[in-house]
Parts: sequence; structure tokens; C-alpha cells
Amino acid sequence: MKLLQGKTALITGASRGIGKGIAEKLAEAGANIAFTFLSSVDKANTFQSHLTSTYGVIAIGYQSDASVFADAEKLVNDVQRDFGTLDILVNNAGITRDNLLMRMTEDQWDEVMNTNLKSAFNLTKFASKPMMKNRWGSIINITSIVGVSGNTGQANYAASKAGMIGFTKSIAKELGSRNIRSNAIAPGFIETEMTEHLKDDVIKEWINDIPLKRSGTAQDVANVVLFLASEMSSFVTGQVIHVCGGLEM
Ligand code: NAP
Repeated sequence: MKLLQGKTALITGASRGIGKGIAEKLAEAGANIAFTFLSSVDKANTFQSHLTSTYGVIAIGYQSDASVFADAEKLVNDVQRDFGTLDILVNNAGITRDNLLMRMTEDQWDEVMNTNLKSAFNLTKFASKPMMKNRWGSIINITSIVGVSGNTGQANYAASKAGMIGFTKSIAKELGSRNIRSNAIAPGFIETEMTEHLKDDVIKEWINDIPLKRSGTAQDVANVVLFLASEMSSFVTGQVIHVCGGLEM
């Protein structure tokens, strides 16, 4: 039997990048996949068909804004209607709006906090209900090493990611007695569309500082998600696992 056979996973922001890699990895392990996206309708439709035809699992993409409380409630209701249950939640949707504090606008602050941090509250609040009923659940929050170290030009992003860590640890304490685990993954430099705008010399500098001397891949993050989603990590909760090639910022 596959590691996640019979489980249903909900992954936010899986039309591309790390979320897409996570959805693919969990489908390969036998999980049925509910995933969300904000605007990439064509990519999401293609990916939904790919998951179903390649892995033989049920896969449905939902257009849903993770930063909107009411959307999260509707999404979780739709997932329960379509899949019958919900066992694994991966809060992955995230954005950057980088700027130095002196130039950062209120909108840049709010957009990042709402998409990266409030979204985790929104989704976890509703997804934890079926998990409590099942007395089984795994919640995985994709934070960032920047949330641990801080970063110039990313005060909004780093604050949102640090907030996710506090949220992860609190939920682990609140829901542990219901056999619901809550962990975070802090990726380092992973090449996706989010990092595409970085100049070549900046990328070279990052890679030079990474002990493993390479950037990470969505697959590197997805492998750790699989571990945290499955019974392989049944005594692991409230933790932050860094997936960063050893980079200390
Ligand atoms: P990405 O390539 O930019 O993809 C972002 C995904 O999130 C897309 O599927 C996007 O959907 C979705 N999304 C954006 N806003 C959303 C919203 N309001 N509601 C629902 N979905 C939304 O990003 P990534 O690099 O894969 O990053 C994924 C996560 O890893 C983020 O939380 C990021 O902060 C974290 N992370 C990334 C790195 C890195 O180096 N890449 C490092 C550390 C942490 P659409 O396609 O529809 O826009």
C-alpha cells in the first residue's frame, strides 16, 4: 500500500512552483489531491488532468483566494463535498512584495500579511474541523528561512513567515490531543517563478553561500512534505524543518 493511500490532501497555491511539486509528490504517494490557485486557470486545468491520468488519484483544482476568510470556508466545504474528507493541509500559497521599509507601502504590507499569514489562519480554522472528527490530521505550513533570520527589503515577507512559525507551534499545542500535527518547512533558495526576477549575480551570490553549492528544487521541499504528511513522522509536531542546503543567513 502506498504511503498516503486513502488520504485527501489540500494544497494551496499549487498551479506552479513549490505547491505544484508538493501536489505531484503526494499524488505519487497515493493521496487524492485538492489544490488551489488564484489566477492560473489554464495551468491548473492541465495540472488537474495530469495528476488524474498519471497517478490514478482524484484531483480537483479550485480557484480560491487563500487570503479571504469566506473563500476558505467555501473551499473546505467544497472539498468535503467532493472528497468526503480532508486529512492533510499544506498552507503553501505565498507572495513577495519586496521593498525597503522607507519605501514600503501599506498595501505591500497588507497584501503580503494577508496572503502569507492570514491565509494559514483561514485554511487551518476550517480544515481542522474534519481532522478533529477523524482524530487524524497533518497541517504543514510553508514558511521561509527569512522568517527566522530576517532579510533586507523583506520586512513584510519575513514578518509574515515568522508569524507562520508562531502559528504552527501554537496549533501543535492546541490540536495535539486530537492527533492533529502541525509543522512548518522553511525553504531556503528554491528556483521557481517567485525567484525568476532575481539577477544572475544575486543568484550566484546565494549559491556561493549555500554549503551544498546549489539552489533547491520544488522536489527537495516536496520530499519533506511527504515525510510530515505521513505516519513516518507520527511523533513529530510543532517543528520547523529547514530545507536550505545548510544556508545560515
Ligand atoms: P510561486 O512560484 O510564485 O507560486 C505561488 C503559488 O501561489 C501559485 O500557485 C499562485 O497561484 C498561488 N497564489 C498566490 N496568491 C494566492 C492566493 N491569494 N490564494 C491562492 N493561491 C495563491 O511561488 P513559490 O516559489 O512556489 O513559493 C511557494 C511558497 O514557498 C510560498 O509560500 C513562498 O513564500 C515559499 N518559499 C519560497 C521560496 C523560494 O525560494 N521560491 C523560499 C522560501 C519559501 P496563481 O498561479 O494562480 O497565481
